[in-house]
Amino acid sequence: METRSAAAIAVGVRAGECSAAEVARAALDRVAARDGALHAFLEVFEDRALARAAEIDRRRAAGETLGPLAGVPVAVKDNMCLAHGRTTAGSRMLEGYRSPFSATALERLEGAGAVIIGKTNLDEFSMGSSCEHSAFGPTRNPWDVSRVPGGSSGGSAAAVASGMVPLALGSDTGGSIRQPAGLCGIVGIKPTYGRVSRWGLVAYASSLDQIGPLARTVEDCALCLSVISGFDPLDATSSREPVEDWALGRRPGRIVVGVPGFARAAANDPDAWAVFEGLLASLASAGVEVRDIGLAHADHAIAAYYIIAPAEASSNLARYDGVRYGRRAALPAGASLDDLYTRTRAEGFGREVQRRIMLGTHVLSSGYYDAYYLTALKTRRLIKGDFDAAFAGGCDAVLMPTTPGPAFALGEKLADPLAMYAEDLYTVGANLAGLPAISVPAGFVERGGARLPVGAQLVGPAWGEGALLRVAGVLEEAAALGAPIAGA
Ligand code: GLN
Repeated sequence: METRSAAAIAVGVRAGECSAAEVARAALDRVAARDGALHAFLEVFEDRALARAAEIDRRRAAGETLGPLAGVPVAVKDNMCLAHGRTTAGSRMLEGYRSPFSATALERLEGAGAVIIGKTNLDEFSMGSSCEHSAFGPTRNPWDVSRVPGGSSGGSAAAVASGMVPLALGSDTGGSIRQPAGLCGIVGIKPTYGRVSRWGLVAYASSLDQIGPLARTVEDCALCLSVISGFDPLDATSSREPVEDWALGRRPGRIVVGVPGFARAAANDPDAWAVFEGLLASLASAGVEVRDIGLAHADHAIAAYYIIAPAEASSNLARYDGVRYGRRAALPAGASLDDLYTRTRAEGFGREVQRRIMLGTHVLSSGYYDAYYLTALKTRRLIKGDFDAAFAGGCDAVLMPTTPGPAFALGEKLADPLAMYAEDLYTVGANLAGLPAISVPAGFVERGGARLPVGAQLVGPAWGEGALLRVAGVLEEAAALGAPIAGA
């Protein structure tokens, strides 16, 4: 089990206390031993990882300066293009697809010395909250393998929580980094929209998608986020806001967090809510001011999100037509171009993706556009206004649970899409508002003889990742869990 943090590994490799090659070898061995039961990985790059680690050791021996993630084994969600191996986005549509280029975030990761170990499982095209919508079978929660790890970045979360790797990348459109981080007992941050380049990220809903890190400590998330953030001319929505070394953050002085009333009203798992209240009490005794606030439109976030995200998805996924990318259906002689589109899309997309495309096409269609899409956009604006008012009123961050409850059983919500969507109650608001948000382990609940983690989430002002990470560090300390590893 890798008990060291990413930060500690990078320090050790740079100081020559351990070699990148032995760190990579150990990570690959853990994946081989552990992943049969979890299925966190879709592909493992053994030869490439060992070769890149050897290269880092060679550069160290030659006296070159190594980057901040020198020799750190990282797992990457398989919706990020890498010019090596396959990029499937968890879909039959892209089965066997090989990207000719790499995502900017992955180039930055490797530029900082990280060693990519493999690609992780996800809900198809990142649509889901359980990892069960992957075309390649579900990932299991390392705390209880009869339960889901959350989604859509469930493979990345399980890979970190089980100690196979100390660090992973995920993407978050409506909670896909924070929700699996919460359900797997680790830390995950979705940065401000525009902070991390989306170049090379397989698009789901482009006005919401952001890449971010998952790790066992806030410090590791900060370290990685500093590396992957920053302007990229290849992404028109990427920002020129300056990027700092967030890992060097000092402890903040006075902290005020606002707990929204809707969070309490919506809480339906008494055990998980009790953990959250316990955290509030620890924060108060650590000198943090905890205030009640209103987020008046938060109740409408799920409805607005499940209009806007499918609308954008229906447009983004129009490109998978059997002509340009990935799968092409075999057709009988005399078939038309329409047959090609229809058969390819019927074969290539799973049920949930088809549901989203139909939803999205419907809410954008003439006659329904104003009633659904336009209303959702107005709601989005109001939701952003609520967060802005909380920050203007003196809150450093808004604090709420990451999810309504702990990890649910495999299959439990599969037949009920609305129950699955309700899982995103607390997470979608930050995406709609474009704000940075982080999930930190809050504690454990007992369920069916297993200890299951639950997370707490902080949402901060735009471009305030530095302050948000510092507050998250205080939360991490208050919860006093010590970054445990599942199954260790
Ligand atoms: N569960 C949400 C959805 O299915 C969010 C997924 C995500 O953030 N990619 O859309």
